Amino acid sequence: MKAAVFYGPGDIRIEERSMPSPGEGEILLRVGACAICGTDVRIFRHGHHNVHPPQITGHEIAGVIADIGKGVRGYKEGERVAVAPILHCGECFYCRRGLPNLCLNFEALGYHHPGAFAEYMIIPERALRGGNINRIPDNLSFEEASLAEPLACALNGELLSQVGVGDYVLVVGAGPVGCMHITLSRALGASKVIVSEIQEKRLNLSREFDADYYINPEKENLKEKLLQITEGIGPTVVIVAAPARKAQEEALDLAASRGRINFFGGLPGDNKIAQLDSNLIHYKELFVHGTSGSTPLHNAWALEMMAAGRVEGKKLISKVVSLDELPQALEEAESGDYLKIVVKPGIGG
Ligand SMILES: [Zn+2]
Ligand SMILES: [Zn+2]
Repeated sequence: MKAAVFYGPGDIRIEERSMPSPGEGEILLRVGACAICGTDVRIFRHGHHNVHPPQITGHEIAGVIADIGKGVRGYKEGERVAVAPILHCGECFYCRRGLPNLCLNFEALGYHHPGAFAEYMIIPERALRGGNINRIPDNLSFEEASLAEPLACALNGELLSQVGVGDYVLVVGAGPVGCMHITLSRALGASKVIVSEIQEKRLNLSREFDADYYINPEKENLKEKLLQITEGIGPTVVIVAAPARKAQEEALDLAASRGRINFFGGLPGDNKIAQLDSNLIHYKELFVHGTSGSTPLHNAWALEMMAAGRVEGKKLISKVVSLDELPQALEEAESGDYLKIVVKPGIGG
């Protein structure tokens, strides 16, 4: 089979690899589509502590069951499935409390285990046990289904920030994940959705997504504009979906009292110490939190929301490429010219 193998920063090679065969309790998946994530780009550039080369990355996974190992029950060949990539242990403190995304012993597909930038991949036994495999609704393509994972992460963030009716939501950063937050905030009932983005081309791409206001803070005074829009109080929820320390610091000042502030995007390791005005948190009774990853249930809900038309997966996909085009696509994903780029190992080359 053909696979894109990561050998180290800047070095991905398209290779012929022997076909994996499913062991006991495992499933062989023929990959239908795997979307490119910001993390894939970071791994490609800098490597990752959980990725030991040579490794096949890619964790936004949709495909069809091609073979089934001994002892597997409840699945059959030919079923179309999306696979949540975080494999949790089911036994630790967090797993027992229903927070498998925070599992102390987690491993992930596309990191510790070979991922979906390949024609085939193994779905390990732990994924089956953990309920990571969700069937793809008939009206969704593999490309759309591959968005379930990032959409699930955004949904985890929206739910933890308790976005709902009456909220004024500010989404900082209009990359693909920011666009998902716009759509989800709308779907969850927010009264107003406002986008802030300094890159004009990204801001323009996000105009498809039905926010109420689009602001480039380098061209307009963001705080003033927000006060105008929100009866002088500021956004009740700020989702910082950009890897920017300054955006995190400013969020405290922008938010309304009792506001919820979600540091959704991580910061680069060499610039991760933010200076937060603690008195703003104190006097405004702010809730500042983060979110990381998603659970299998969030993935199932993400698929359902797309199937029901609450989230239009197609609008989030800018480009579909073959496996051979992956190295170039990783560079394009960095450019800000596209929303999601999806790899379809079945096409081209
Ligand atoms: Zn991802
Ligand atoms: Zn666990």
